Amino acid sequence: MQPDSEKKPRVAGDIFTKCYDFTTAKEVMAAGYYPYFRPISSALGDEVVVHGHNMIMIGSNNYLGLVGDPRVKEAAAKATMRYGSGCTGSRFLNGTLDLHIELEERLARFMKREAALVFSTGFQTNLGAISSLVSKDDIMVIDRSDHASIVDGCRLAYGKLMKYAHNDMEDLERVLNIAVDNGVRGGILIVTDGVFSMEGDIVDLPNLCRIADKFGARIMVDDAHSIGVLGEGGRGTAEHFDLIHRVDITMGTFSKSFASLGGFVAGDAATIHYIKHFARALIFSASIPPAAAAAVLAALDIIETEPERRLHLWKNTRKMHDGLHSLGFNLGTSETPIIPVMIGDDTTCFRFWRELSDDGIFANAIIPPAVAPGMSLIRTSYTATQTDNQLDRVLESFARLGKKHGII
Ligand code: PMP
Repeated sequence: MQPDSEKKPRVAGDIFTKCYDFTTAKEVMAAGYYPYFRPISSALGDEVVVHGHNMIMIGSNNYLGLVGDPRVKEAAAKATMRYGSGCTGSRFLNGTLDLHIELEERLARFMKREAALVFSTGFQTNLGAISSLVSKDDIMVIDRSDHASIVDGCRLAYGKLMKYAHNDMEDLERVLNIAVDNGVRGGILIVTDGVFSMEGDIVDLPNLCRIADKFGARIMVDDAHSIGVLGEGGRGTAEHFDLIHRVDITMGTFSKSFASLGGFVAGDAATIHYIKHFARALIFSASIPPAAAAAVLAALDIIETEPERRLHLWKNTRKMHDGLHSLGFNLGTSETPIIPVMIGDDTTCFRFWRELSDDGIFANAIIPPAVAPGMSLIRTSYTATQTDNQLDRVLESFARLGKKHGII
């Protein structure tokens, strides 16, 4: 049958031409190495089923293993039965439930800040918060490895964007000096990931705060991968460094430790109030459904009362760091449950990924532009509930494939 794309004659400069001519992904699919959009057909746990095969999951952000926790699932189901399946509108108008307010109050208390505001996704949180705060004469200064949602939030904002080398505080200072030399007319907002989503390293927050103070800059930390993971109470990067009140705004997502979907910012009441009335990603987008909000509340109860989960996560993290490192793999600068295994070129990375999958291991292949050319990697990440037996099987597979591909 003739595909729809061929039914209409193409005119010169047709905006769809690039879509019809895009073949790279199809070539990788034809070669059997396509690692994306894999349909999982089972419960989302430490093992999942893909195309009928059982796989050990080392490619999720389910850090505390709460996605399948019966208490979290039950809270989500009960909220659906009580409120219905969706909110059919934005927080601003008809989409605010008492559940959202309860969640914001609980998050503010947990984060030890005056207020919190819930958005529909983590991505939208960064879009909405950054673009509402930064005006025409302001400057945004971001780490080169910051998440795409921070970059896009900055693109939406009217201020000027400047970047510094990854986690390099000397370079941050250099960039801020340039901004000052050029005459900053407004204010400065520094935005950084707390834990970097590909590298798995932690921002040098003490030095970042020191430099920010020197330049009178505000600090926003994206703690998507840090809440539930870092800090004595799981409050993220600022708690880890004992700097909770030095960070101006913390952003978090519900799609990782909180086992749900959505995002939030926490900070002083006046700033959160302002964002609430100016963030277009909040005002013009429907709010998270009752099930998602209730799941976060249940997950928060568990995060607050079961610190042993975090300890277990770190035990598993140490085991995999030590195990992969002693096999001879290059793990970059990772210090957290996100452990990238450096492979090199894209083709080897796809082959490695494919053979890991054949061994029953679900990991993620990361290639440019998500990483620099020649720096393709297998991104692995770990969960509190994984067993030694599962992790030993992962290490055995990495050992065999690392030797086979000449990486170790
Ligand atoms: N920030 C960071 C650092 C992330 O890694 C992600 C998602 N991977 C987001 C923001 C966006 O969060 P969400 O997927 O919940 O929209």
